[in-house]
Amino acid sequence: MLTTIIYRSHICKDVPFHSVKQMVAAANIKNGQIDVTGILLFNGTHFFQLIEGPQDSVLEIYQHICQDERHHNIVELLCDYAPARRFGKAGMELFDLREYDRDEVLQAVLDKGTSKYQLIYNDRALQFLRTFVEATEKENYFEIPPADAWVFIPDDSGSHTDVVVSDNTADCCFAFQPIVDPFAQKIVSTEALIRTPSGDSPAVYFEGLTGNSLYEADLNSKKVAFAMASALGLGGQSISVNLLPMTLVIIPDAVDFLLSEIQLHGLVPEQVTVEFTENEVISRIDDFTSAIRQLKAAGISVAIDHFGAGFGGLLLLTQFQPDSIKINRELIQDVHKSGPRQAIIQAIIKCCATLEISISVVGVEKAEEWMWLESAGITQFQGNLFASACMNGISQVAWPERKADL
Ligand code: C2E
Ligand code: MN
Ligand code: MN
Repeated sequence: MLTTIIYRSHICKDVPFHSVKQMVAAANIKNGQIDVTGILLFNGTHFFQLIEGPQDSVLEIYQHICQDERHHNIVELLCDYAPARRFGKAGMELFDLREYDRDEVLQAVLDKGTSKYQLIYNDRALQFLRTFVEATEKENYFEIPPADAWVFIPDDSGSHTDVVVSDNTADCCFAFQPIVDPFAQKIVSTEALIRTPSGDSPAVYFEGLTGNSLYEADLNSKKVAFAMASALGLGGQSISVNLLPMTLVIIPDAVDFLLSEIQLHGLVPEQVTVEFTENEVISRIDDFTSAIRQLKAAGISVAIDHFGAGFGGLLLLTQFQPDSIKINRELIQDVHKSGPRQAIIQAIIKCCATLEISISVVGVEKAEEWMWLESAGITQFQGNLFASACMNGISQVAWPERKADL
């Protein structure tokens, strides 16, 4: 099947352009042998390449390109299937946009094409090409330094572990994980994540619980969460807990229970955020929004967890607006390499900025993910890159330092 990949990248500053010409000449021959064709545009800083051919060959060449050290910040823009090639003349043809006037350059590129229809039909690949040539999206290109430009230095001041709360009736424990603002070197909040007494995951804890006992266990466990948070010395800081939305809907006086547990452990409602996962919110939205009103009236903040992962995502924001949303790892994994992920996250950021909803990102594992997200304007991060979840305690935060600054 004819497969098309389009990516853009940034030329490394020590690569002379004539060496790019040699590279393309070599690629031309190699691609010809495996039936791959395409075009490479260069604007003096960025490359834009369209590769077409049999799926396996295109993917293999793209993987090869991703390893090539002559360029960096490679972002895949499109991977699609088409009935015919757009640029079928050469294994790879280099096109230097700087050699043309602004008003003729797009036509000059299209004249290299072999597609009958050019821009007549709504072909996404050709629209990408037009956008690159006309440079209308350039403000969305974030150039990030390589991962090894940073070191992550564990902060050994003030981390606590192994707080055990003696409550014989508790059948659960909590792991704690900080949400951090890396540039401000501040812990924004600390999330309590439920565990079985032997440290197994939330899924294991909740498995086997059905009907109301599920919601009762969920709510009751927060007693332990607040007790541990208090014992960990989180008294003056923000604390986040997770709840199933139905827990608030189904259990009478659930909000009162939370408030009295908060008070009992010397905490105040204003320091607590309750996180809900959106896909479970939808089924009884009216009951849920009235529970939200109660939480808000008591001073507790509300966050939507795993934002964008469920089908209700954007519709939910029309029904009520949380104080914050959390974007999950599924959406941000390798965001620095993916055009679609970047577009979605930029749209979420814009929407939340308009509504004054704050954003944090969960599951950040790579320095590049973090740097891309910082460039896009996100400041709050939770992930193993900075600190992983720690059973009965809080692990040290590893703060990033630029190597040049050390
Ligand atoms: P969540 O609220 O999105 O919590 C974050 C999850 O991501 C945690 O998994 C955490 O360990 C994991 N995580 C954090 N950083 C990274 C990272 O860099 N990479 C990866 N791969 N994972 C990372 P955990 O503790 O297994 O919790 C899973 C989910 O269980 C939570 O997702 C939350 O939705 C739910 N949950 C946790 N505690 C409770 C609770 O008390 N009540 C309810 N109803 N749900 C809970
Ligand atoms: Mn959560
Ligand atoms: Mn999660």
